[in-house]
Amino acid sequence: MSGMQNCEHSVCGRENRVWLPTTKPRYGSIEKHPWCLNCGLVKNISDDQPKSIGYWMNLLSIISTDHDLKQVQKRLIAKEIEDSDIFHDSFGSFGSDQKKTFIGILKKYILLSSIDIDSITFIRKL
Ligand SMILES: [Zn+2]
Repeated sequence: MSGMQNCEHSVCGRENRVWLPTTKPRYGSIEKHPWCLNCGLVKNISDDQPKSIGYWMNLLSIISTDHDLKQVQKRLIAKEIEDSDIFHDSFGSFGSDQKKTFIGILKKYILLSSIDIDSITFIRKL
């Protein structure tokens, strides 16, 4: 675990924001980004926002109900999610990276071919 992920993140003031390439081209090619005064990590201000760990645990609950996961499977998956920094970092991480990690963890414990994460997310409107 690196220091960056353990950082509590202290966001710089408006006047210290840095110009960086934007992920929202409709606003031009660069925009001002806040960053952390402690570790230097730039805040993710793209449309691809990270979700809270509660979101991923909810999704796991739905999947475990729909697919009759055993308690032990669910516990092991939940523990890996809990232990992954990416689900705790609402500052610099990306939602799409969280999703890749989430699916990677699921794949270790269950046959994933029958699970469509996007349709679950869409239908349940989580
Ligand atoms: Zn920080």
